[in-house]
This record gives sequence, structure tokens and C-alpha cells, in this order.
Amino acid sequence: MKQILVTGGAGFIGSHLCERLLNDGNAVICLDNFYSGSKKNIWHLIGHPGFEVVRHDVTESYRAEVDEIYNLACPASPVYYQYDPIQTTKTSVFGTFNMLGLAKRTKARILQASTSEVYGDPVCHPQNEGYWGNVNPIGVRSCYDEGKRCAESLCFDYQRIHDVDVKVIRIFNTYGPRMAVNDGRVVSNFVVQALRGDDITIYGDGSQTRSFQFVSDLIEGMIRMMATPKGFSGPVNIGNPGEFTMLELAEKVLAKVGSKSKLVFKPIPEDDPKMRQPDITVAREKLGWEPKVSLDEGLDEVISYYRDELNIK
Ligand code: NAD
Ligand code: UDP
Repeated sequence: MKQILVTGGAGFIGSHLCERLLNDGNAVICLDNFYSGSKKNIWHLIGHPGFEVVRHDVTESYRAEVDEIYNLACPASPVYYQYDPIQTTKTSVFGTFNMLGLAKRTKARILQASTSEVYGDPVCHPQNEGYWGNVNPIGVRSCYDEGKRCAESLCFDYQRIHDVDVKVIRIFNTYGPRMAVNDGRVVSNFVVQALRGDDITIYGDGSQTRSFQFVSDLIEGMIRMMATPKGFSGPVNIGNPGEFTMLELAEKVLAKVGSKSKLVFKPIPEDDPKMRQPDITVAREKLGWEPKVSLDEGLDEVISYYRDELNIK
């Protein structure tokens, strides 16, 4: 039985990962400061003999004996990460530094949850791992984008200098059950607004694109990346290449919910990337992985999840 540390384990993705790792027969330490995560996400796991929860901030060092570390701690929604941007940078940089130190001491393998945001507002489309990105280093998204870029840099330095077995994945927009109702990201916003009959808030003219991945596909990609041999560190894009404009997403959600909500157009947030689509050639070749869940199937699942959450029949 492996002892696995999941930082950010009470968050949206972290809670699905903890569940999968426990189901696979591992012991899991879920470490979280509950900044954007919630006990509700992991309530169903409490009492499992292999499950442990630790309230801790990754910006402080942490000691435990572990075999693997999944470093997910970091708010991911622009609303949350821009609320306290200095803490966001500290979380990515000091948090990753602390987890790499733990990996070095315990000789644990560590997977860093990086992001498509390292590509910024890309001029290369679709984005492959060789693209260095187009990131504003001083804008409102920099705390997240540059924090994650610095975290990647730390990972590769710990590999070169200390021979730490690092694995870096770049996650593209992921959605699914357990994203908080007030998370602020686009899929949860649109579905919740459509179910409540509220206006659908399109930022800008809605022509910007994103590629949406269902959470179960991401979890499979994470597990496969962690299982790759030592020496393979990535980075590897994990995302669904299906690309949609925000207007297309809004229309799909309205049609599926059967909602009469109106589209309202709001100002585009600063440095909002105009397009995003993963090139997943490396994931296909090195992990034998590709996404299985289409946006239509995934949306049906999240709509039914939020219907229950909001008690809307
Ligand atoms: P989330 O906000 O639901 O989860 C993040 C978790 O980290 C929360 O439980 C939060 O409380 C915890 N956390 C934040 N700061 C912490 C700190 N200082 N110490 C300890 N815990 C802390 O977001 P998510 O969507 O589940 O994202 C998880 C990870 O995946 C993040 O690292 C994020 O950058 C990355 N990621 C997510 C997406 C996506 O689309 N969901 C895309 C790219 C990358
Ligand atoms: N967006 C939107 N309405 C919303 C929330 C987001 O139009 O209520 C847009 C946002 O401007 C961006 C895209 O949806 O272009 C994805 O935003 P999200 O916050 O989900 O993630 P991002 O990829 O920007 O980090």
C-alpha cells in the first residue's frame, strides 16, 4: 500500500483524486487549508481507513513519510486567485518548494499540477509543450500564471540538482461535479445561472475559446503520468482538444437545461486569453491517454449535479 500525499485534496480536482487513489487501495493524506476547497467535497471519504485529513498551509513546511506527492494546492478560479494575489504566488512558489523538499527527503515521486495558463494568451495554436508562452508578467493573472511557471522551473531544477523524480502536467480547463456553486469559472457559472433562470454572463463578445475536459479524464491522465518511469518528467498537456467559443458553450447549456435565461455581455477581464486548445500528442504517445468524455456528456452530468445541489427539479 502506497502512502500518498494530495495537497489541495479538499478542492474540486483534489477530492476526485483522493477518491480514486483510495479506491485503488492506497493510503491518502489529504492536506488543505480550505481556502477554496471544502470539507463537503471529502465528507464521503471521512471514515475510510486509508484516509487522513490535515489542515495545513503549503506555504509552511510539512513533514510526513510518503511515497508519492500530488501537488494541487492553489486556487484555480480567477475570482479566487485574484482575491489575494500575493498569497496565490506564495502558494505556488513556496508551496511547490516545500513539497519538492519533502520529495527530496523522502525520495517520493512528485506530480505538479501545472496549467495551460503557462501559455498565457497564446500565439501558437493549438498549444504544444514546446511553446514557451505569451504571459503578461505584471498583470492581474500573473500571480497565477507566473506562480505556476516558477513552480515548473523549481521542479526541473530539483530534478537536475537533486535528482528528484518530478512529473509535470499542464492541465487545461477542467469541469465536473464538486466545482463550488460560487467558484466563478465559466462552466459552473453558466449552468448555475441557467438553472436559476438568471442572466448568463458572457465576458467580452463570447468569441474567445476554451477546451473543456471532464474531471474523470483528467484523473486518469494524472494517475498515468505518475506511473511513468523515472526520468520522464514532461511537461505533458492534459486536456480535451474539443474547442468551443463561450457563446457556443452558453447556447449548449441553455438548450440542455431548457432555460429561458438571457445572455448579457460584460466587460472582458484583463488579459483574458483569446483561445486555448491542447495539442495532446505527447499524452497520447507517452501515457497512452486521451479524453473519453465529450462536452455534451460531461455537461449532462454537471447539470444533474447542480440540479441536486441547488434543489431545482
Ligand atoms: P480548487 O480551488 O477547487 O482546489 C484547490 C485546493 O487547494 C483547494 O482545496 C484549496 O483550499 C487548496 N489550497 C489553496 N491554497 C492552499 C494553501 N496555501 N495550502 C493548502 N491548500 C491550499 O481548484 P481545482 O480546480 O481543484 O484545482 C486544483 C489544482 O489544479 C490547482 O493547482 C490548479 O492550479 C490546477 N489546475 C486546475 C485547472 C482546472 O481547470 N480546474 C486547470 C489547470 C490547473
Ligand atoms: N467567462 C464568461 N462568463 C463567466 C465566466 C467566465 O464569459 O461567467 C469566460 C472568461 O472570460 C474566459 C472563459 O469564460 O474567457 C473561461 O473562464 P474561466 O474563468 O472558466 O477560466 P480561464 O480559462 O479564464 O482561467
